[in-house]
Amino acid sequence: MTTPYDTDAIRAQFPILQRTVGEASAPLVYLDNTATSQTPDCVVRAIVDGYTRTKANVHRGVHTLSQEATDAQEATRRRVQRFIGAGSHEEIIFTRGTTEAINLVAASYCSLLQPGDEIVITVMEHHSDIVPWQLAAERHGLRLKAVPLREGSSELDLDAYARLLSERTRVVAFTAVSNVLGTVNPVRRMVDMAHAAGAVVLVDAAQAVAHERVDVQAWDADFVAFSSHKMYGPTGIGVLYGRRQLLERMPPYQGGGEMIAHVDIDRSTWADLPFKFEAGTPDFVGIAALSTAIDWMEATGIERIAAHENSLLRRAEEAMRAMPGVRIFGDAPGKCAIISFLMGTEASAYDIGFLLDQMGIAVRTGHHCAQPLMHVLGVSGVVRASFAAYNTEAEVDAFVAALRRIHKIFHL
Ligand code: PLP
Repeated sequence: MTTPYDTDAIRAQFPILQRTVGEASAPLVYLDNTATSQTPDCVVRAIVDGYTRTKANVHRGVHTLSQEATDAQEATRRRVQRFIGAGSHEEIIFTRGTTEAINLVAASYCSLLQPGDEIVITVMEHHSDIVPWQLAAERHGLRLKAVPLREGSSELDLDAYARLLSERTRVVAFTAVSNVLGTVNPVRRMVDMAHAAGAVVLVDAAQAVAHERVDVQAWDADFVAFSSHKMYGPTGIGVLYGRRQLLERMPPYQGGGEMIAHVDIDRSTWADLPFKFEAGTPDFVGIAALSTAIDWMEATGIERIAAHENSLLRRAEEAMRAMPGVRIFGDAPGKCAIISFLMGTEASAYDIGFLLDQMGIAVRTGHHCAQPLMHVLGVSGVVRASFAAYNTEAEVDAFVAALRRIHKIFHL
């Protein structure tokens, strides 16, 4: 028998949720989880442990502390490998985040391409899955194309995607879940289409990894990128999964300590995977604590967390749809627990975000690092509320009550 989902017990593990905000000392209602999720006690303790017990540089010392720190980092590599179903721990590269992981692939893999080769992305990408490809396109004379949304829909136009794929397509990069619309893209289908065209695929899993079980082999993806801070883990750490045959062919992204086999003044040779792509001292304390965050998510149950978030999503959206003048952006079936919205035409996203903050409610406002998508939606910004494991029905109700007050302020 499974135990009931106990939000109180979960919340008790996140001390930050007890704080108040603003002059009115309003209890914090944290609904900015898509930007970053909060971190449970056990992960904070793992970080403190790292700094108070085992801090020593990794892969550099024979002394006990260095060995222990190295073991903790490498155990996390294996933990991540199991978590995402990768074939080998050598295919797991630690980065500073999703952004750096994508930059790594764009800089390194694209250096193997020829002028006139093509990269396909989508209009719903985060800037971190657009700009690195633009930089690579400029440097190597590549062409960048973007899959549009289906007319009047929050989903990608897969017919247009099929038409964009050509014999010159070398890379396809797209997000598994839109950070604005919440749309869950059909990853495996899109990967298969790219592979049939002879392209490699990078999946941006930043918004997927805390809300669904990511299996890189079931996706058949060539590269997958995600960030620890969006999965209850420490900030400043990310993961790039890469298919071994590709990583082996790719040149290093950065040069420095630990990524070399041998260095002479005029040339160097590279370390084996994964170290070829890990120049310099990593955040080994944070990396070790990422393992604890994964343990926490699995113990709580990723599917159970997602079901809980979805029930909060339904509750909030039902109430919001009943409010005149509220426009919700994103209505794809099975979407993630993200609500992007605007109210009337008088209230800007910033007005709404500011007023919500006065009432203790933290949401994100603006273009959400997705300006091309904002252009498609015909707005300069939206307000975004998003849910995580620790949010409650009472918080949804407080959020809805706050929206009703804002509704009155603007006479909507
Ligand atoms: N991709 C998506 C879909 C995101 O939502 C984000 C962050 O919001 C990123 C990439 C960038 O992640 P990071 O800033 O952790 O590198």
